[in-house]
Amino acid sequence: MEIYEKTTNSEHEKVFIGRDPAIGYHGIIAIHSTARGPAVGGTRVWHYANEDDALIDALRLSRGMTYKNALAALPLGGGKAVVIGDNNILDRDAIFSAHGRFVETLGGDFITAEDVGTSPSDMEIVRRETSHVAGLLSGTGDPSPFTARGVFRAMQAAAQHAWKSEELSGVTVALQGCGNVGYNLAKNLHAAGAKLIVSDVDSQKTLRLVDEFDAVVVESHAILGVRADIFAPCALGAVINDHSIPQLHAQIVAGAANNQLLEDRHGEILKERGILYVPDYAANSGGVFSGCVGLLDWKPEHVARKVNEIYDTVLNILELASAENISTNKAADRIAENNFRHR
Ligand code: NAD
Repeated sequence: MEIYEKTTNSEHEKVFIGRDPAIGYHGIIAIHSTARGPAVGGTRVWHYANEDDALIDALRLSRGMTYKNALAALPLGGGKAVVIGDNNILDRDAIFSAHGRFVETLGGDFITAEDVGTSPSDMEIVRRETSHVAGLLSGTGDPSPFTARGVFRAMQAAAQHAWKSEELSGVTVALQGCGNVGYNLAKNLHAAGAKLIVSDVDSQKTLRLVDEFDAVVVESHAILGVRADIFAPCALGAVINDHSIPQLHAQIVAGAANNQLLEDRHGEILKERGILYVPDYAANSGGVFSGCVGLLDWKPEHVARKVNEIYDTVLNILELASAENISTNKAADRIAENNFRHR
């Protein structure tokens, strides 16, 4: 395989391109920061139009991992791998073996796991070539219940900050996306006495929440505008944008989706409108904590404690934002940057 370092105009420590034309492998590993520890990030397989598009995604996602891990004070840095292809890769064995050899050349500076377009069985193939891989079939399993619990704790913290009570009983939550995290979040909210208004493009997913948690269903396009106290994005990124913000009725936005703000300035606009935004990478870090069982030998009790403490992390962010009169996403970035720039 041909591997070479790519020079970029970014703050990333190192970026490598790996190619093996004989088997059609074309991947990128971006290491944003190892200041706190080895760069950890999933391997994404996506039908990128070209290498430049793949590179942009790798740079953006690896930077996000640094911020997420640093905010959570984990001894881990941020990285990401992307492989150009699609989910119908014909020879997964050859592609992920090549990927494993690529990861191995970094000598442990980068540890990968599954992500969009990859699965634990793909990581087992990677594992044949390198030990620097997590998210295996023998691992901790589905991270979604931990992510959902963390989002629930984040909502409690936001309620405490906004309404001076963390009680969610009687509070109405508009939930966008009833997949793995959405379902588990709904379970937590229902148990706490919250009312649920839900949407999903897949009606089977919403029906389950109607049956089990008395949820009310609305069409996908209507969920932003429903009368609710909290809007919980648990489907797609970039849902907070110029088009969606004027439709929002909720006082709090807190959910699991990654990269909820289309641009940083949308966090500023939410602040101006008096809508309290819980930064996504603070709310959704429960899944990363569950991964620490494999990565850092954490015990399940430690995972549970860290997920619980998302409440305190979020409250700190919201208090800093209020004290400094800055947007909550800026406050979270500031805490994270302090954790990885001053090591
Ligand atoms: P999932 O694929 O299980 O669920 C997503 C759901 O959103 C699906 O049911 C899908 O039909 C629905 N959806 C898609 N487009 C929609 C739309 N326009 N309106 C309403 N619903 C729509 O994914 P998940 O694991 O539940 O993750 C949800 C989000 O949280 C994703 O953005 C993911 O990146 C993020 N996240 C997940 C975890 C985790 O532990 N699973 C951790 C961190 C972040």
